[in-house]
Amino acid sequence: MGLLALGTPLDWPDTKPLAEHIRYHGITQFLNTWDKWKDQTGKGLLWGDEIEYMVVSFDDDNKSALLSLRQTEILEKLQSVTLDPALEKHKPKKCVAIPTFHPEYGRYMVESTPGAPFSGHVKDLIAVECDMRFRRQIIRSLLLPHELPITLTSWPRLGVSGENFTEPPTMPDPEGSSSKSLYVGQLLTNPHARFPTLTANIRQRRGSKVDIRVPLFIDENTVVPEGMSAPQANGHSNPAKPSPGTPYIHMDAMCFGMGCCCLQITFQAWNVDEARRVYDALVPVAPIMLALTAASPAFRGQLADVDARWNVIAASVDDRTEEERGLKPLKENRWRIPKSRYDSVDLYISNDERNKPEYHDTYVPMDPAVRQRLMNHGVDDHLASHIAHLFIRDPLVQFSETIDQDDTASMDHFENIQSTNWQTIRFKPPPVNSPIGWRVEFRSMEVQMTDFENAAFAIFIVLLTRAIISFDLNFYMPISQVDSNMQRAQERNAAKSNKFFFRKNIFPLDRPLTKYDLASRPRTPTLPSPTDSTTSHRIPTSPSTANGSHNHTFISGSSTSLNGHGRESSHASTRCPSPEEEEAYSDEAVEMTLDEVINGRGEGFPGLMGVVNAYLNSLNVDVATKCELRRSLDLIKHRAQGRLVTPAAWIRNFIISHPAYKKDSIVSQEINYDLAKAVDEM
Ligand code: ADP
Ligand code: MG
Ligand code: MG
Ligand code: MG
Ligand code: MG
Ligand code: MG
Repeated sequence: MGLLALGTPLDWPDTKPLAEHIRYHGITQFLNTWDKWKDQTGKGLLWGDEIEYMVVSFDDDNKSALLSLRQTEILEKLQSVTLDPALEKHKPKKCVAIPTFHPEYGRYMVESTPGAPFSGHVKDLIAVECDMRFRRQIIRSLLLPHELPITLTSWPRLGVSGENFTEPPTMPDPEGSSSKSLYVGQLLTNPHARFPTLTANIRQRRGSKVDIRVPLFIDENTVVPEGMSAPQANGHSNPAKPSPGTPYIHMDAMCFGMGCCCLQITFQAWNVDEARRVYDALVPVAPIMLALTAASPAFRGQLADVDARWNVIAASVDDRTEEERGLKPLKENRWRIPKSRYDSVDLYISNDERNKPEYHDTYVPMDPAVRQRLMNHGVDDHLASHIAHLFIRDPLVQFSETIDQDDTASMDHFENIQSTNWQTIRFKPPPVNSPIGWRVEFRSMEVQMTDFENAAFAIFIVLLTRAIISFDLNFYMPISQVDSNMQRAQERNAAKSNKFFFRKNIFPLDRPLTKYDLASRPRTPTLPSPTDSTTSHRIPTSPSTANGSHNHTFISGSSTSLNGHGRESSHASTRCPSPEEEEAYSDEAVEMTLDEVINGRGEGFPGLMGVVNAYLNSLNVDVATKCELRRSLDLIKHRAQGRLVTPAAWIRNFIISHPAYKKDSIVSQEINYDLAKAVDEM
């Protein structure tokens, strides 16, 4: 989120009648951008991360750690410090630019991004950790002596009943606050008009407060409310949503979800087709990375029976009415809507012929008039459907000053709907009057406690997108299985114990399989290398390639025609596939452990790390740089193997092995204080 526009936000009764106007002009704005950009190529790979922090106020005498609600003052300081040329001399050499800082939903939160996007040079991959550390250092230097920025995804004691958890203390105000929460007060929310309005309008559109329930972790002495019983373990993990009659942690405000911190990666594609292909490939990757980064085992002062935030944040902004949720017959509303506006992707969007209709096996409501209008204009079915699905939602915040816009000079109405569809992957059209091209944002990951980890995940995702493009990988599988993975990813211990659907045949069909491909050969794939002449569009083009120096471009970026290599295809078509080949060509996704999805499992499936390694090996990069990248990638490899635990497992273990823990699922002030201190020390 960039600068927040100022204006007079309309309440829900005044916004609702404007919905059609906003949607209509939103589509006009999109079409103007489409006309301008559909055939344009960008400037190649640019990418950047977003990291969200919580500011914590420590009281060492009383052993308390509270959320500090000084966002406004802190951001003002950050703004002036980053504008001050004096900061230049503190900037580490590796960092490209002075970072930028942004407001976030919680008044205890701050977001940071690199000051300029990173480029497609390997040296930028190496620089990201340094950049992240510099950002944290800047925030740290501006806080009060007893405050620290920490990167926990969920604050374990946010909204705990009957006890204070903020500095200054706040009280819930069920009558006067925008959420009407029984647990959190207005002061928790960023005071900028946008945020309380968003909160109130979601509640009013829904017709009730949001209702968030996560299963409670049941320990020896946990009090199970009367009339409820602990879920039956049955040897496998419990579902991520509480089964009827089982105990849950209740939350009732947007802050519980939007007040969580995450790690997002945005990158610019070469052109719109490449953006759509990579978007699709990342859809099945999103739940995998959620499981691998899981970092939120506690909410409202209690241990949860889940490890990740996703269902909490989805429910925290769920503005669907009872009719839309299927609880009442449709009367006022136009369609039943299976998911919250914050949820996993519903549709693949690429025109890749491998994007088959049968992968769309869930009910996805679309606005038929929007879809028709886009198609009449020449937008293809896949993209028209994607936008017609986003546009089933109402706008949530509209400022009275910007109701009428110049549709050739603004994307605000489009963005109004687009930016409040918070899905796992976001397809971002170019902004108006800007050189920025088509981008894709990867949004499922939980923020990690250290910058080493956050950098590792950023590097991994960026390299994975390069491998997807370079090797023309196929990750398609039914959306219902991706949805199922989203739930599995959140279950307690999912990274270690759960299985996930993943496609086992990820290589393009026009690449004939060899005996070698079919042989069991775990973790060492032989892939068409980007330096191979048949894939010449990906050959690094930087002049420094020849001497293999650091500023080697790791991706030149280009559109490839799918199946366009024609590589040995005549050979492939002159014979019938063997049974092994048929099996290897099968579309099926199979259940794999996270270790298998990441590190491979033989049988021609090298794992996501396998393709990243193959890509990296194909680059002309010096050994020292490669080693540095491998150090980061090893974190992911080892975490998938279970040799390193997720932050969620680490936090849970810290809590349950704390001397003050009474085996009652409760995260006391003292435990939380020690936890926050331990996190900072890392
Ligand atoms: P939002 O909150 O809307 O997702 P932000 O502005 O907070 O967006 O973050 C966007 C990220 O995209 C930043 O990391 C930024 O460095 C990166 N970025 C900026 N320009 C480009 C670009 N042209 N291509 C790709 N990424 C970009
Ligand atoms: Mg942002
Ligand atoms: Mg944002
Ligand atoms: Mg953010
Ligand atoms: Mg973002
Ligand atoms: Mg669906």
